[in-house]
Amino acid sequence: MNKQQIIDQGEQYLLHTYNRYPIVMDHGEGMYLYDNEGKQYLDFCAGIAVFALGYNNQEFNEAVKNQVDKIIHTSNYFYSEPTVEAAKKLAEAAGMSKVFFTNSGTEAIEGALKTALRYAYNRGRRNGHEIIAMHHSFHGRSLGALSVTGNAQYQDPFKPLIAGIRFADFNDLESVKVQVTEKTCAIIVEPLQGEGGIYVAEEPFLKGLRELCDAQDILLIFDEIQCGMGRTGTMFACQHYGVLPDVMAVAKAIGNGLPVGAFLCNEKACALGAGDHGSTYGGNPLAGAAANQVLTLFEKLKIVENTKEVGAYLYGKLEELAEKYPQITGHRGLGLIQGLEFKETVAPIIQRAQDQGLILINAGKNILRFVPPLIASKQDVDDMLVILEKSL
Ligand code: PLP
Repeated sequence: MNKQQIIDQGEQYLLHTYNRYPIVMDHGEGMYLYDNEGKQYLDFCAGIAVFALGYNNQEFNEAVKNQVDKIIHTSNYFYSEPTVEAAKKLAEAAGMSKVFFTNSGTEAIEGALKTALRYAYNRGRRNGHEIIAMHHSFHGRSLGALSVTGNAQYQDPFKPLIAGIRFADFNDLESVKVQVTEKTCAIIVEPLQGEGGIYVAEEPFLKGLRELCDAQDILLIFDEIQCGMGRTGTMFACQHYGVLPDVMAVAKAIGNGLPVGAFLCNEKACALGAGDHGSTYGGNPLAGAAANQVLTLFEKLKIVENTKEVGAYLYGKLEELAEKYPQITGHRGLGLIQGLEFKETVAPIIQRAQDQGLILINAGKNILRFVPPLIASKQDVDDMLVILEKSL
């Protein structure tokens, strides 16, 4: 099929829940994507903060291919070595005790929410079903995850959602405290709000949430799906603050493109028992092999160190840009997740960048989001900036 035939067939048969760009991606290499007409794109999107190791990493591919030839799936009735190894590495990297693998971020959030409900139930709090979430948060599209997503546009058509969700303001501890009742079982927050506009948590806020949860005996859930796995320059964003949650949700980069997610619990929060939760595919040997190799390569390629260094470089360059162009009204972020806020919608900038071979995405209408593969170099940042400036 040629490009137009693929697009036409896609429009006919794929449910139209996305406004796709008229581009057919064909393959990738490192920091670059190539469409089916051979056009090259420098990628500062990474499949929405997924491709930490860049495209076509041979060591990652080998591990996945080897596992395909051995066994892909067995069911969770059995153990599998790569999955067990991945769980150990992930738990140790996060400072958590136990891992449940899922197939996506939204499922990791579902598991985290169920953990909180079960925790309250185990403590005899039969009506402990209330959860406090943040305005402008994003936690996923399944009904539980959507219920804690503080965005009316995503929620309204699907109401009523699950009961007992109360919203507070990000970085405003007092606004959280007033939402606590005797029915509260958890607080859920992204240490860095991604989709909501690249808002970084302030240290007193996260520390205050930790103290509040301890005092109330409720669970603190961190959604590290977008900001975790090295993206901010530490393995998990919460490590900037020295604050650990009771439950952590991860996804995206942990599978480097394969559908893998997980929720992790500390000892106290291992509230789910046999029969309480499950997934046919979650953590199958293929997913386990992918996650295991991602964690190995993070160490070997010093991904976190690179993110920290190149992230600081990007930060400096975007600061310069923000000073130079009056239409830029804000700049924020950490490591290789940064945002530039504009006075107007950034859609035309994204389009012009794309025409010149650069993939950028937004986070909200007015914010350009920079989430490149974590192997990005300073040269890649410079190359990106040349095209971005021409697109402004
Ligand atoms: N939580 C956060 C912070 C996210 O950024 C996303 C996806 O963008 C999700 C949850 C949902 O993850 P998934 O799309 O894998 O279901």
